[in-house]
Amino acid sequence: MVFDLDGTIYFGNSLVEKVHEVLDELHWKGIRTCFLTNNSRKGRVDIYEKLLGFGLELELEDVYTASYLAGRYLKDHGYGSAYVLGEAGLINEIEGCGVRSVEDDPDCVVVGYDMTLNYEKITRSFRHVMDKKPFVACNLDKSYPVESGLLPGCGAMVGAITGCTGISPGIVVGKPSVYPIKVICKDLGVDIDSVMVVGDNVESDIAMARTAGCKSCLVVTDDVARDCLVVKSLDQIIGIINGEA
Ligand SMILES: [Mg+2]
Repeated sequence: MVFDLDGTIYFGNSLVEKVHEVLDELHWKGIRTCFLTNNSRKGRVDIYEKLLGFGLELELEDVYTASYLAGRYLKDHGYGSAYVLGEAGLINEIEGCGVRSVEDDPDCVVVGYDMTLNYEKITRSFRHVMDKKPFVACNLDKSYPVESGLLPGCGAMVGAITGCTGISPGIVVGKPSVYPIKVICKDLGVDIDSVMVVGDNVESDIAMARTAGCKSCLVVTDDVARDCLVVKSLDQIIGIINGEA
């Protein structure tokens, strides 16, 4: 079972209710669990330690971040170097996969979430992408949830490069791309149709599962929608009315 993190397991630094109970039950039943986040700012260890801090029991290898997936993609596709528009977490994961982070003449360009994005970084990325270097994006998320609401996501950084080059990424390694599921299935030695994805986002978690051909479960955890009934088709409303009558 593959769990999304932001908005599913936690909101910022707050753990969602009953996470411990659910994970304990899955563990007791012998169902393997791992965690998948489009976070490209943090490294695998950062997220692992955050989950440990919540008192969850897991291994480092159970955590998949877009930063790690970027490094994994570069390694698996034979790239020796990359210009990385991103923060230390992304650079460390890429270098941890044996790919050098360089400023000039890279084999490809990787764009991730970067709170220190500036004109110089945009210019370097622009020049490399215009020079026909493969353009790898960590994800295209418009925003992500924190306790106080939404913040701009990695889509803002990717959009900055597409906006000035007119070129879209050749590969997106995060959700809703099926790349994460392929890597997880390969690592765990399981078939895609035996996997269930649990997440709060239709456009990323559920879309990835649908494209990959695995089961999915949408969780509605935000306060506004928490008490809202969810139906799969409009006629189910009749059943709800009859059930209440
Ligand atoms: Mg989420």
